[in-house]
Amino acid sequence: MVSANSFDAGEHTMEFSLRPRYLAEYIGQKQIKDNLKIFIEAAKMRSEALDHVLLYGPPGLGKTTLSMIIANELGVNLRTTSGPAIERPGDLAAILTGLGEGDVLFIDEIHRLPRSVEEVLYPAMEDYALDIVIGKGPGAKSVRLDLPPFTLVGATTRAGMLSAPLRDRFGVVSRLEYYTVQELAYIVLRAAELFDVEIRGEGAEEIARRSRGTPRIANRLLKRVRDFAQVQGDGIITNVVAQEALERIQVDRLGLDDIDHKLLFAIMDLFRGGPVGLDTLSATISEEATTIEDVCEPYLMQIGFLQRTPRGRIVTPHAYQYFGREMPEI
Ligand code: ADP
Repeated sequence: MVSANSFDAGEHTMEFSLRPRYLAEYIGQKQIKDNLKIFIEAAKMRSEALDHVLLYGPPGLGKTTLSMIIANELGVNLRTTSGPAIERPGDLAAILTGLGEGDVLFIDEIHRLPRSVEEVLYPAMEDYALDIVIGKGPGAKSVRLDLPPFTLVGATTRAGMLSAPLRDRFGVVSRLEYYTVQELAYIVLRAAELFDVEIRGEGAEEIARRSRGTPRIANRLLKRVRDFAQVQGDGIITNVVAQEALERIQVDRLGLDDIDHKLLFAIMDLFRGGPVGLDTLSATISEEATTIEDVCEPYLMQIGFLQRTPRGRIVTPHAYQYFGREMPEI
C-alpha cells in the first residue's frame, strides 16, 4: 500500500533528481553562469575559498539549485540552512565551527536572519573568525576563534530587505531573471525525459508558456499534465493534452492562476483599478501580504499588468484588455 508519506517522499525525490548538478546542465541565466564559471575556476586555481555569493530573485528560479552546483563544481561539501532556522548566535556558531576548509554554507531567506545572528556573521564572512563573549558583566571577555575559509551563498527574494553591512560583505551579487519560454520548454523536455514521459515539442512549449517564467512551476505543471495524459489519454503529452489539463487546473494562457485572478479582479472591481494599498488588498482577498508581494506581483509587473506606485497598486490598461473589460472613467 502506498501511504501518504511515501507519496510525499516520491515527489520529494523527484524534485531532487530534477535539479541539474553542474553548471553545464543549468539552463538559462547565461550571464550569472558565465561569471560564476570564471570565479569558481579562479578560486580553484588559487586553492582559495570562493568569495561569498548573494543570489536574489523571485522563488523557484533556481537559487538553491545554483548553490548546490557551486559546491559541486568546487568539489566541496554543502551545508544548507535558512534565515528563520537560525534563531540564536550560538546556532550559527555551531554551524560555522562544523564547516570544513572551502565548504559552502547556503542560507536561504537570508533576509530573515535575526540581527543578533547577523552580527556574528560579519567577522565570519570578512576574517573567517568567530567572536565569542565569555562571562557576563564587567568581567566579560571577547575571545576570537579562527574558522576555516568558507563560502557563504545567501539567497533572498528581497535584496532590499538585507541590511547594508550584510549586503556589502558579498563579493558576488547576482539577480536571477525570469526564464524565456524557450528555456522553460527545454527544462520541461529535460524533466520529461527524467520522468520517462513522452512529450511533443509543442506540448512542452504550451507548459512553458503557462509557467510564469519559473522552472519550479514548469516542473510542477508537467507533473499535473502527465497525470491527465496518463489517465485520460494515451500517456503522450501533446499541445492539446497540455492545454486541456492546464485549463482544468485553472492556469490560464499567460500562467495566471486563481490568486492572480482574485488579486486583479479585486483591484478592478472593488477599487476601480487602484491605487490600493498592499494591506487592504491582502485583507480583501484573504492572502498573506508576503505571498502577494513575493510570488504574485513580480510576475504581474513583469508582464505589465500591475504597477506599484507610492499610493498603492494599480491595474494597467493592458490587464483590462486581456480580460476584455472596460477601463473605468476617471
Ligand atoms: P529557488 O531556490 O530559487 O526557490 P530552486 O533552486 O529550488 O529555486 O529551483 C526550483 C526547481 O526548478 C528545482 O527543483 C530545479 O529542478 C528547477 N530548476 C531551477 N533552475 C533550473 C535551471 N536553470 N535549469 C533546470 N532546472 C532548474
